[in-house]
Amino acid sequence: MTAYDPRSLKAEEFIHDGEIRETLAYAEANKNNVELIDQLLEKARPKKSGKGYTCAGLTHREASVLLACEIPEKIEEMYRIAEEIKLAFYGNRIVLFAPLYLSNYCVNGCLYCPYHLKNKHIPRKKLTQEEVREEVIALQDMGHKRLAIEAGEDPVNNPIEYILDCIHTIYSVHHKNGDIRRVNVNIAATTVENYRKLKEAGIGTYILFQETYHKDSYLTLHPTGPKHDYAYHTEAMDRAMEGGIDDVGLGVLFGLELYKYEFAGLLMHAEHLEAVHGVGPHTISVPRLKRADDIDPDDFDNGISDEIFEKIIACIRLAVPYTGMIISTRESEKVRSKALRIGISQVSGGSRTSVGGYAGYDEKERPHDTEQFDVSDQRSLDEVVRWLMENGHIPSFCTACYREGRTGDRFMSLCKSGQILNCCHPNALMTLSEYLEDYASPETREIGYRLIEKELKRIPNEKVHDIAVQNMEAIRASNRRDFRF
Ligand code: SF4
Ligand code: SF4
Repeated sequence: MTAYDPRSLKAEEFIHDGEIRETLAYAEANKNNVELIDQLLEKARPKKSGKGYTCAGLTHREASVLLACEIPEKIEEMYRIAEEIKLAFYGNRIVLFAPLYLSNYCVNGCLYCPYHLKNKHIPRKKLTQEEVREEVIALQDMGHKRLAIEAGEDPVNNPIEYILDCIHTIYSVHHKNGDIRRVNVNIAATTVENYRKLKEAGIGTYILFQETYHKDSYLTLHPTGPKHDYAYHTEAMDRAMEGGIDDVGLGVLFGLELYKYEFAGLLMHAEHLEAVHGVGPHTISVPRLKRADDIDPDDFDNGISDEIFEKIIACIRLAVPYTGMIISTRESEKVRSKALRIGISQVSGGSRTSVGGYAGYDEKERPHDTEQFDVSDQRSLDEVVRWLMENGHIPSFCTACYREGRTGDRFMSLCKSGQILNCCHPNALMTLSEYLEDYASPETREIGYRLIEKELKRIPNEKVHDIAVQNMEAIRASNRRDFRF
């Protein structure tokens, strides 16, 4: 019998099945315990401290009680507090990114993904370095500055050297005023040595979805291939951190297992990283299972409604207030709208989820042959940017922290120092103004400049304000780019 130990480096001890089951039983027993729920809500609320805010967060047990709670007014209160946290730490800024699929060769047998080895009719494709260049030019021409690269696991077709070459190519392309300033990497669990190579190649976040924390389900859903090894997969973030990567991104694929189990496992994983490495996950993604080539979501029993999905997002926001949250174009405009208010801080826009899906296609045309999943939100980046602004958000293309070496727990330090409005805010406005100048449609540009004028007034430090104004004048009048605080 193993014992629960968040400091252990063994998967089955830090994601401990017995602890999750006890957590779920505790949550069920307390889901109508109004006194406890009120205490937890109070604990989660952001508190003013010095110039900034601090938040205590919630443990996996505490957050699980809130997730189990079905009292309508308490759920509304959760949404209100989630919104307060979002505003206190992230303001109305939303960071934008796009996925770039490099290769769909894969030796694994994941039952929920059309790239699985046994799918013999999906075309297999791997970008050459010239094709990577073309994709990057197309992405830069849309206005993207931040990418998440994706590739299946295949030691012959997609070895680490191939991934490193692609990263190098991506950073080397500077088309017109464009450049990709942060490459996040979503590849299969690998060795400390390979993580070190990724770190040296200058990656931003290393992202790896756990898919499910439930070991038995994990083994069934990954019947063949190296990914079958639950412990190797679950311990990947520890190896990444050992390899020097400070920023790691967690996520589960909601719909595979019971959501309450996944939620507790996800938070336990975050607590484990904090306990062992002194820094929690940089981001948490909340993908839901989607239809794709030979995948039918109805074949899986654990799909969740939009209401449950929103509650999960709010509860994650309350539990780990300093962790960025990502939602992709898997979700519709309607779902993304609410999710943005209650916790999400990063969204993808104009995404193509196929290999080679950007170059040579216009905005409305998308290839489906190698798609990993159906995209619900099919709007162009310009439409997403405009929509964000019309809904009171500031679209941000900021990559400043990574480029200034502020990795690891720096966001927390930024929050606590109260410098967000003097740092993230002007960075968002400057990168938005680059976008408006170089890529936006006339209508989006007009809305954007009006928004910038209004939002500039919110920068508290006069000197920072004046520098931001000067930089934006330079962006409008010249080809000078990439200003940052
Ligand atoms: S989820 Fe990843 S590892 Fe699994 S089949 Fe798809 S690409 Fe391969
Ligand atoms: S300044 Fe840093 S924390 Fe703020 S938005 Fe930019 S990258 Fe993120």
